[in-house]
Amino acid sequence: MQKSQLLQQWREQSIIEDEKILKAFSEIKREDFIPKEYQHQAYEDSPLPLGHGATISQPTTIMLMLQALEIKPENKILEIGTGSGYNTALLSHLAGKKGKIITIEYVKELADSATKKLQKFKNVKVIYADGKYGYKSSAPYDRIIITAACQDIPESLIQQLKLNGIMVIPIGPFHNQEVFKITKLKNELTRKSLGSFVFVPMK
Ligand code: SAH
Repeated sequence: MQKSQLLQQWREQSIIEDEKILKAFSEIKREDFIPKEYQHQAYEDSPLPLGHGATISQPTTIMLMLQALEIKPENKILEIGTGSGYNTALLSHLAGKKGKIITIEYVKELADSATKKLQKFKNVKVIYADGKYGYKSSAPYDRIIITAACQDIPESLIQQLKLNGIMVIPIGPFHNQEVFKITKLKNELTRKSLGSFVFVPMK
């Protein structure tokens, strides 16, 4: 499949509500972020292995998560699970020059390779650490996105999210997770389900 076919499919299914998301997918090349042996499959709508037990997520999954995140230019965004860096590059495009992306990866080799690939994205900082605790020194964040499955919402991430901020997070046991859009209101968190998906577990 070509990239144009994938984008056309999204249009036909009317699952794209935001043109800015389509523009980001048009600009960022998924093939730049996947291992050579899978590059011919770059625009298949499926996850692909990255090694180290990680996968680059299915494009439609990423698109739906990014859309739910309602990113505004200048947003400060925390991403947990850098993996290939593809989602990070899309976040970078959506937040724009004045935005800031902090992305955390637990596997050293993946953090190093993503750091290299993301060098030209000047608003991105890759951190090699355990993302469960978030990244306090740049908090609070307008948006938080987690790309590995959690048992529950880590408390530190709730604390590091701004008031009225949005978090998108897969929650649930192995091979059966639901992605939630969480909005942090003054006295409560609201949860909206985006449906069932499969992610690698958060370590
Ligand atoms: N967004 C990535 C998807 C990567 S898969 C992409 O587009 O390629 C999930 C990633 O989360 C893996 O790279 C895995 O190593 C990482 N991960 C798992 N547990 C983590 C943790 N506690 N802290 C940071 N990263 C973690």
